[in-house]
Amino acid sequence: MAAFMLPLLFVVVVSIDTFSKRQKTTRNLLESNLWLSGRSALNQLEVQFIEQESKELNDKYFSELLKANCLKQNDTIADIFITDQNFQVLYPKTTEDKNSYLLTTNRGWKSDYKEYMSRAETDELTNRNFSNALKNYQTSRGLAQTAQQEALAIEGLARSHLASQNYRQSIQYYKLLKNKYGQTENLGGTPYGISAPLQLFAIGKLTPEKVFGQDSLLFIYQMMKDGHWLISSSSYFFFKAEYESIIKINNLSTESKFERTLHFEQFIHGFVIPAIKERSGFSEFNKNGETNRIYIQDGDGQYLVSFKEMLVPNENKLYYIGIRWNLDAIITKIITPKLTGLTEETGLKFLLVNGNNKNLLTNEDARIPEESLSLPFSNISFPWSLVAIQPGYEKLESDAKVQMIIYGLLVVFIIILMFFGVFVLLRDISRETDSMLLQTEFVHNVSHELKTPLSLIRLYGETLLLKENLSETVRKEGLQIITKESERLSFMINNILDFSKIEMGRKEFDMKPGNLSEIVLNTLDSYRYHFIKKGFTIEEEIDPDIPMVLFDKNAVEGILINLFSNAIKFSTDTKKLVVKLIYMTNVICLEVADKGIGIPPDELPDIFKRFYRVKSTADYNASGSGLGLTIVKHAIEAHGWNIEVKSTPGQGTVFSITIPIENYKEELI
Ligand code: ADP
Repeated sequence: MAAFMLPLLFVVVVSIDTFSKRQKTTRNLLESNLWLSGRSALNQLEVQFIEQESKELNDKYFSELLKANCLKQNDTIADIFITDQNFQVLYPKTTEDKNSYLLTTNRGWKSDYKEYMSRAETDELTNRNFSNALKNYQTSRGLAQTAQQEALAIEGLARSHLASQNYRQSIQYYKLLKNKYGQTENLGGTPYGISAPLQLFAIGKLTPEKVFGQDSLLFIYQMMKDGHWLISSSSYFFFKAEYESIIKINNLSTESKFERTLHFEQFIHGFVIPAIKERSGFSEFNKNGETNRIYIQDGDGQYLVSFKEMLVPNENKLYYIGIRWNLDAIITKIITPKLTGLTEETGLKFLLVNGNNKNLLTNEDARIPEESLSLPFSNISFPWSLVAIQPGYEKLESDAKVQMIIYGLLVVFIIILMFFGVFVLLRDISRETDSMLLQTEFVHNVSHELKTPLSLIRLYGETLLLKENLSETVRKEGLQIITKESERLSFMINNILDFSKIEMGRKEFDMKPGNLSEIVLNTLDSYRYHFIKKGFTIEEEIDPDIPMVLFDKNAVEGILINLFSNAIKFSTDTKKLVVKLIYMTNVICLEVADKGIGIPPDELPDIFKRFYRVKSTADYNASGSGLGLTIVKHAIEAHGWNIEVKSTPGQGTVFSITIPIENYKEELI
């Protein structure tokens, strides 16, 4: 058992050791990859952001923007701003709220223009003398020195014509204002591009002429929302409501571009400028065009603002330029694409986790495995941390499980194999022991078998030799016994010789065509006396007319003698021998049956084995070698025949031999 268990133990220990060593090495490799690649990923993200930042905070671009009087195309990633050194917001530029409507008289103009304009206004507004007003506005128009002055005069003309119901002229003037003076502001600070269309639409209702339709009004409304006119927030919201009431549109849910700009402006005034002011006094404030970054919390939103000083060389003026980043856009436009590339490169998985443990890359709750690396942004101080996960670990775990199963199965297989080996070994040993026992028994039986007839022969031989005056009957009996015992002896020795030839593979058969019924009958005849003397009745059915077959005469005799002698040996109460030789289509059937003690079914398959003798019936007849049926079977098979046995304990045994006929026919051809 130890010899069996020790190698087994060895196999198990070596397997587990190799397995755990391999696991450890792979784990170390994965760990160092996680550290190196994780840190490098963080660096690359920061570098990527800084590159984008310097691209956005470009001095040249900002100086151009200073000159332009428009809103930059909407950029989702960043809103930009410019202030002068006194923190006056120069960009994005909407018009600050102005005081209420000022009459020309109250304005600081000193000229003939002003003179005529105030006359016109008095005619129009106080005296309601529109024809005078028209004349004076006309004169003013001619005297105007600026676009606004001219536009104001034209507006007066348009109003006065309208008041005197000269719609066609009024329309002409309003159209002029809309088209030529669209960006020019009236005294209330509203560009004519916004106010004139409203007037035109109103006039359209008074005259059958088609002047200004809903569609055109909608167009103006959209332009206003997109920031085409940089107006004050109060004007914007006033006109927006005005337009919406007319065109019956209520699209307040989404923030328009202009509103966004207005809000951004508020943000600059409310948060950015105070923060810059506060910062600029401290040493950490980066001067000389270096970038500063501040985080600003506005309501629910958190913003990152990058800003720096900008010196415009030929103006020699200092400006502050900056960007308000949209953090979501940083994630989607900078971080996510970069991380996708990095995942492919390093095989790591990345999460971007905020303070609420949310993975911002997927917007799901972050599930962070134990073996991961959490890296806070160090240079940019984004309010997130990058979590690098080594998916190799999970694979390692699942691989480990698979390998464990394989190793386990292997060990189980080895154990089964070993058990099987031991089983086969034990079985062979027990067979060997059985066979040795059988052989010993055989030697014992055979010596006994040989001794009995020899002693009888000797006894009767000596008696016949020494006693001279013996009666004829006694002498005859003595001689008969000597003959019978010598026959038995020679049968016995023949069997042993046959067996040893079979064992050595030297048994030869002399096959010749012949009539089986002849030999069966002859052999039975020579034993008939023997049977009758033992008290047997014989039932025979031997078909004399059967085809010729090939057989070895001596072997067939041996087969019959063995079967007959067993029938004699193993019959007790009912002594009957049945011998049949029947010819059926294609086969001849030879049957030897008795009504003897029979053979237990579980031992039936063994009776043809060498030396085998049925244990329970051995007592009936001690004589025998256990060789007879072995020789019978061998001879039958050598002929290409078949033998079967049927037996019922206490009722008898039938041996049937089937002899195919083709056999002989084929060989003859
Ligand atoms: P043995 O010399 O013992 O007869 P065999 O090989 O001829 O050896 O037979 C093997 C065993 O088969 C016998 O010992 C006996 O137990 C059993 N056997 C054979 N023929 C018969 C039969 N006709 N009736 C009962 N048992 C038989």
